[in-house]
Amino acid sequence: MSTLFRNASVLDGTGADPWRGDVLVEGERIAEVTPATARTVRASPPGTTIIECNGATLMPGLVEPHAHLSFLDQKSPFDFHAVPVEEHLLATLRHAKLYLDQGFTACFSAAATKPRLDVVTRNAIDRGEFPGPRLLAASVQLTVTGGVGDLRQLQLDPGEMMYTLPCDGPMEFRRAAREACREGVDVLKIVPSGDTSTPALPSGQTLMCDDEVAAVTEVARERGKRVAAHARSAESVKMCVRHGVDIIYHATYADGEARDALEAAKDRIFVAPALSVTWTRLHESGQYGLPSSDAIKARISRDLEATVECMRDLKRRGVRVLPGGDYGFMWNPHGRNARDLRYFTDLMGYTPMEAIVAATRWGGQLMRMPIGEVKAGALADLLLVDGDPLRDLAILEDARRLIGIMKGGAFHKAPPHQAAGERRSTTGDRQWTTA
Ligand SMILES: [Zn+2]
Repeated sequence: MSTLFRNASVLDGTGADPWRGDVLVEGERIAEVTPATARTVRASPPGTTIIECNGATLMPGLVEPHAHLSFLDQKSPFDFHAVPVEEHLLATLRHAKLYLDQGFTACFSAAATKPRLDVVTRNAIDRGEFPGPRLLAASVQLTVTGGVGDLRQLQLDPGEMMYTLPCDGPMEFRRAAREACREGVDVLKIVPSGDTSTPALPSGQTLMCDDEVAAVTEVARERGKRVAAHARSAESVKMCVRHGVDIIYHATYADGEARDALEAAKDRIFVAPALSVTWTRLHESGQYGLPSSDAIKARISRDLEATVECMRDLKRRGVRVLPGGDYGFMWNPHGRNARDLRYFTDLMGYTPMEAIVAATRWGGQLMRMPIGEVKAGALADLLLVDGDPLRDLAILEDARRLIGIMKGGAFHKAPPHQAAGERRSTTGDRQWTTA
């Protein structure tokens, strides 16, 4: 099976200016890229599907570094436990398809809400039973007794396991991490700091102890897994860097020492601020009927401003800061994930090109897969886009502008059949960009 994208504007994910040319896909990989100026064009194999791109943008599929496919677009972050696992799995599979429909061909999970939801979803996608992105499956959140999401009440039976699994001491963390590995996760998620959503546990508070973080990263190293951390306090960020956590979410109150540590570890570590969940809670949650007292607003604003300031500094220091905005709440629903690129340009001082590199090439590095770039040998996870995202990043938020979505050389969404010279896009009156 082979596909030739002819005369595309190739935005290759490396940060290089887009170039005009052809991209040949054979099997699941990109076999050849040929700029229009090149003289040698290998004949495509017989039976090749030829896509006349007429200058439409061909770019790597987007990577979501902070996916919660089993979040249910609910009002409270902790309403999941009321949903039976059968319905919950169906919703998770629906979200997986939605992400692919929106151009996200890979997702790094930042916690499942029941222990096996991610694992089962990943396996079903990998077997081709359901459409979805490449998925690194996560555990539920591991934190301490009384930590963010520990909703147990002494007068009630603990019942079935909830979103957050409370552990105390390195032994319990080790056991929980090993159990998650037994069930087949790729990512162990820990919550070493507080969060604004739980007023009694503010963002600046550190919840896990040093030996508890060390216990989880030790299990991950032994089993070849990754560790992702919700770390807003300065001390929690330092612990995570010290013990080899792979990706730090938020890093809101990382102080000078924590930033120095992140900079020193920038070749192995990633940071993702998850701005959208905070920004939309502040500016858009009113339309969903969420209360916002002055005190709540002040807390959220403080978190937002601190995060933005920190990310600008980390950018200057060369740390790989990734998008991913904790989508899956009522006020920040699934499917809008590409919005994150605009937070990067509008709040954090990134150029559109830098935002795209973060969402593609760096995302591929986080996944540790040959994706995120349009180059020979890479897996063919590609988007054919009606328009130029460098001029308007919002194009990527509109699934109608994604003319083609390919994962591993197979179209999830095939471009419409075109007669020779046809330039009309699926959106009717718009022309595919030819500039
Ligand atoms: Zn999250």
